Amino acid sequence: MAGSNQVYDVVKDFGATQTDAMGNKYTANQATYNSKNNRLQLTLSTGSNSSLDLFAHELKHMYQFEIGEISLGLTESGGNANLIKGNLLFYDLTDEFEAYKRGDLFGANEQIMSASEVITKKGYDDRIPIGPFNAVNHPEAAKIRLNPQSYADKYNVAFRL
Ligand SMILES: [Zn+2]
Repeated sequence: MAGSNQVYDVVKDFGATQTDAMGNKYTANQATYNSKNNRLQLTLSTGSNSSLDLFAHELKHMYQFEIGEISLGLTESGGNANLIKGNLLFYDLTDEFEAYKRGDLFGANEQIMSASEVITKKGYDDRIPIGPFNAVNHPEAAKIRLNPQSYADKYNVAFRL
């Protein structure tokens, strides 16, 4: 990634920390595309579960972005992409499965065994496709290549080809 023309950034945002009904504070790290400075941004919050494994999880998403395996929402949209015809462009549960596996290498013990377990064990929305969808195998890959910005706008995401 050091040789990439994409700039990757780590930003601290203590306001992103989430608090539950008991007052416990939870880390809410996120990888998003900041269109104000054109940097892929890893936003780090603080919380009781702040740890290297969550950081490693988001770094995996950044690497997936680098190689065209994932599309990521915009920082100014809170990372939310548009679901169109059952997909989120290149984002899918397989990307999350791989990121949780990376987290396990750095001390997490999620024991998620498949992409579908990302829904059952981590509570992800079951409308997110299993995938993997990426810049190569997406059903509209050829059309995306011809006019990538129109797809970025339609899905409200950023991606690399
Ligand atoms: Zn993730």
